[in-house]
Amino acid sequence: DDVLLDVRGLSVEFPAAEGRAVQAVRGVSFMVGRGKILGIVGESGSGKSVTSYALLRLLSAPGRVNAGSAVFDGVDLLRVPERAMRRIRGRRIGMIFQNPVGSLNPVLTVGYQMIEAIRTNRDVERDTAVRLAEKVFRDVGFADPAHIMKQYPFRLSGGQNQRVMIAMTMAIEPELLLADEPTTALDVTTQAQVLDQLRRVRDEHGTSIMIISHDIGLIGEIADEVVVMYAGEVCESGPTERVLREPRHPYTQALLESVPRPEAGIDTELRSIPGELPDPTRDPVGCPFAPRCAAAMDVCRTHDPQPSVLGVGWSAACHLYSDERSEVTRR
Ligand code: SF4
Ligand code: MG
Repeated sequence: DDVLLDVRGLSVEFPAAEGRAVQAVRGVSFMVGRGKILGIVGESGSGKSVTSYALLRLLSAPGRVNAGSAVFDGVDLLRVPERAMRRIRGRRIGMIFQNPVGSLNPVLTVGYQMIEAIRTNRDVERDTAVRLAEKVFRDVGFADPAHIMKQYPFRLSGGQNQRVMIAMTMAIEPELLLADEPTTALDVTTQAQVLDQLRRVRDEHGTSIMIISHDIGLIGEIADEVVVMYAGEVCESGPTERVLREPRHPYTQALLESVPRPEAGIDTELRSIPGELPDPTRDPVGCPFAPRCAAAMDVCRTHDPQPSVLGVGWSAACHLYSDERSEVTRR
């Protein structure tokens, strides 16, 4: 089976005042293949981070999953007992977040934390753990692992800490690596290094990676498959190369047009998409993108667009394509 994680119909709500609820994620489905990199892209508030927290069962209260499944190597992450989940989280599913400093203990050396992480998750002797730590630190570009291991996180730059986090994750060798805005806090050069490291983790260890970003350019550089989210829903998904070359959903098109393109010479300014995300406490009737969509039709305001198949593994939820086969018939 070449699917490692199969997420179907995931919905997450946050109960709000007066019996209303914020439906942060609505019926989201996607798959992560073994050894593949899946990118999830969307603006802040699109539900992409909530999706990852839900999968790890780390949603902060009162957020809760109210529908769906997330089968990871045969186990539904949303239903497995918490005890079993604790053996999956960190060990089988590694996590890298935007703020690496917050994930490291400031008063313990990087080396101490690395050795602890290795010995907690893998059954190895201390000597072996030390050698492994040195190897992965070298792999993420630290020329002098012994030196870096003596440092405290607060002595290191954001980029160095992020590489420490990646090294820690690599040492544990999870099957799936979940990276939420892993390079957002970093300068351009360090961003490129971190992306290189993530590619290496995949190429050398066959690790599957789920990377979440607001930056469709970044996703285009690294992901095999892309999921575009808007207002808690998937609006388009498919092979990155195809989706980025011929985006079909008006929102994907708008996202791509908002990316600065220095090679075009003139239009280097970031154009943002006009309009705002819909009020998430209202149950949207029709397409959530309709208020911002230049192609909106009457049907868009009255009927929810269902995913239409556009190619192998490629679909868009938009009435412009509702003549194409419905995804539902395929499954
Ligand atoms: Fe635009 Fe209608 Fe497609 Fe929504 S369904 S993206 S409003 S054309
Ligand atoms: Mg909908």
